[in-house]
Amino acid sequence: MGKVTGFLEIDRQDRSYKPAGDRIRNHKEFVVPLEERNVEQQAARCMDCGIPFCHNGCPVNNQIPDWNDLVYNSDWEAASINLHSTNNFPEFTGRICPAPCEAACTLNIDDNPVTIKTIECAIVDKAWENGWITPQIPEKKTGKKVAIVGSGPAGMAAAQQLARVGHDVHVFEKNEVVGGLLRLGIPDFKMEKQIIDRRCEQMEAEGVTFHTGVHIGGDMPAKELVDNHDAVILTGGSETPRDLPVEGRELDGVHFAMNFLPQQNRRNAGRNWDGDGEPILASGKHVVVIGGGDTGSDCIGTSIRQGALSVTQLEIMPEPPEKEDKALSWPHWPLKMRTSSSQAEGAERDFSVTTTSIGGADGKVTHINCARVDEKFQPVADSAFELKADLVLLAMGFVHPIAEGMLAELDVELDARGNVKADMQAYKTNRDKVFTAGDMRRGQSLVVWAIREGRQAAHSVDKFLMGETELPR
Ligand SMILES: Cc1cc2nc3c(=O)[nH]c(=O)nc-3n(C[C@H](O)[C@H](O)[C@H](O)COP(=O)(O)OP(=O)(O)OC[C@H]3O[C@@H](n4cnc5c(N)ncnc54)[C@H](O)[C@@H]3O)c2cc1C
Ligand code: SF4
Repeated sequence: MGKVTGFLEIDRQDRSYKPAGDRIRNHKEFVVPLEERNVEQQAARCMDCGIPFCHNGCPVNNQIPDWNDLVYNSDWEAASINLHSTNNFPEFTGRICPAPCEAACTLNIDDNPVTIKTIECAIVDKAWENGWITPQIPEKKTGKKVAIVGSGPAGMAAAQQLARVGHDVHVFEKNEVVGGLLRLGIPDFKMEKQIIDRRCEQMEAEGVTFHTGVHIGGDMPAKELVDNHDAVILTGGSETPRDLPVEGRELDGVHFAMNFLPQQNRRNAGRNWDGDGEPILASGKHVVVIGGGDTGSDCIGTSIRQGALSVTQLEIMPEPPEKEDKALSWPHWPLKMRTSSSQAEGAERDFSVTTTSIGGADGKVTHINCARVDEKFQPVADSAFELKADLVLLAMGFVHPIAEGMLAELDVELDARGNVKADMQAYKTNRDKVFTAGDMRRGQSLVVWAIREGRQAAHSVDKFLMGETELPR
C-alpha cells in the first residue's frame, strides 16, 4: 500500500470528456487523460484491502491493489508487467470496460471508488509510448496447429496465449478486418482502431497468422478446418440480434443496429462502407433507437455525429433508481440510472415503453406507435402515443450465435439459450478437439469477459495438446 492515508487526503479525480459540442464534430476518442502525477495520486487512494473486492469484481482478476501501489511509487514499467499478467489487452478494457471493479471497490461504499479503469488505461498507454510492450516470441515451437474462428477479443486473447507457448495459431475471420465487435460494432469515438492494429502486429510477431475474409462454414467447410488442425476454438460471438416482430417492421428505414454501426466504422477507416446494400445514415433524420443498452448508446452517438435532427431512445424496462441501495448491492454491479456520454450528447430517453407497430408511407417509415407498459410489460390502457421517425434502429441485444453454417455443420451441442455448450473449466464442446469461448459460449456479454474466456480456453487447449500447461487460467 503506497500511501496509508491516501484515501483520507486525496479526493477522487477522473478523466474528463471534451465538451459535447466539440466531440460530436468527428468520430475520434474524446476522453482527456489525467496528468501522470494525478494518476499516481489517484493510485495512492487504494486502501489495499485485506479482501480486495475489486480483484474479484474484475472478470480477469486484475491485481489492482498491486499495480496501484506500483503506480503510486512511479514504477510504471513493473505495473505494466503486472497488469499484462492477467489481461492481454488492458488498452481495450481501460477504454470500454464498464468497470465492475469500481462498483466492487470498498471506497464505493460512499460513492468514491478508486479510479481503477483510468489507472489501468494510463499504465498500458504509457507502456506503449515507452516501447515496453514488445512481442513475446516463444523459444520453442510445439509443432501443433490451432485454428481459432473469430477475431473478437475472445479469439485474440486465446490466440495470443497459445502463440506464446509455441503453437502455430491461425485465426479465421469472415470480415475483412480483425477485431470482431471491437472493430466493427464499438464506435471509434469509444475506441480508435489503430489500438487493435498495433496488438495485431505484436501477435503476428509472436506467431499468430490472421486469415481475414474467410467464412468458416461458408468459404471453407468447418470439417476441413477441424481435419487440418490439432485443436479448434470457436469464438464467433453472439450474432443473432433480437428482432421486433410488429406490423411495419419491413418498412424501409428500420434497421438492426449492427447493420448501421459497422458502416460508420468502415467509413472512418476509409474503407468501402459496405460491400452491398444501401448506406444507412441518420443525417437530417428523426431517429428512434429501440433498446437502452450499450449498443443503443452507440447508435445515439453515431447518429448525432452524422447530423440527426433528433434522437429518442426507448427502453421497455422501468426507469432505474437514481442511486442504488448500497447495503443490498455492494460489492456487486448495481442497477441504477446511468447516463452514457452518448446519451449526454442530446438524446431524449423514455422508459417503460413498448413499440406496438411501425407506421409508414410509400414503403418508408414515418413514425412508430408506442404504449406505456406495466410491471409485467403489458401495454397500459389509453397510454398509446406516436413518435416521428425517419430512421428506427433496433438495439435490443443479441439472442444467441448464428446456428446455421459452421455450428450446424459441426453439429456442436447448444445449451437451452442456443449458445454453444461448454463448461468454464474445459471450454470443450461435445465434439472431439473443438473448444469454444466468449459470447459464442456465454451469450452476449462484455469485452473483459471475452478476454477472460479466451485466456482460460487457451489454458485448456494447451493442456489438451501437451498433457500439461503453464498458461494461467
Ligand atoms: C455495438 C456494441 C457495443 C458494445 N460496447 C461494449 C462496451 O462498451 N464494453 C464492453 O465491454 N462490451 C461491449 N459490447 C460487447 C462486446 O463487444 C462483446 O461482448 C465482445 O466483443 C465479445 O467478444 P467475442 O470475441 O466473443 O465475439 P465478437 O467480438 O462478436 O467477435 C466474433 C467474431 O467472429 C467472427 N465470426 C463469426 N462466425 C464466423 C465464422 N463462421 N467464420 C469466421 N469468422 C466468424 C465475427 O465476424 C466476429 O468478428 C458491445 C457490443 C456491441 C454489439
Ligand atoms: S478490466 Fe474492467 S473490471 Fe477489470 S480492472 Fe479493468 S476496468 Fe476494472
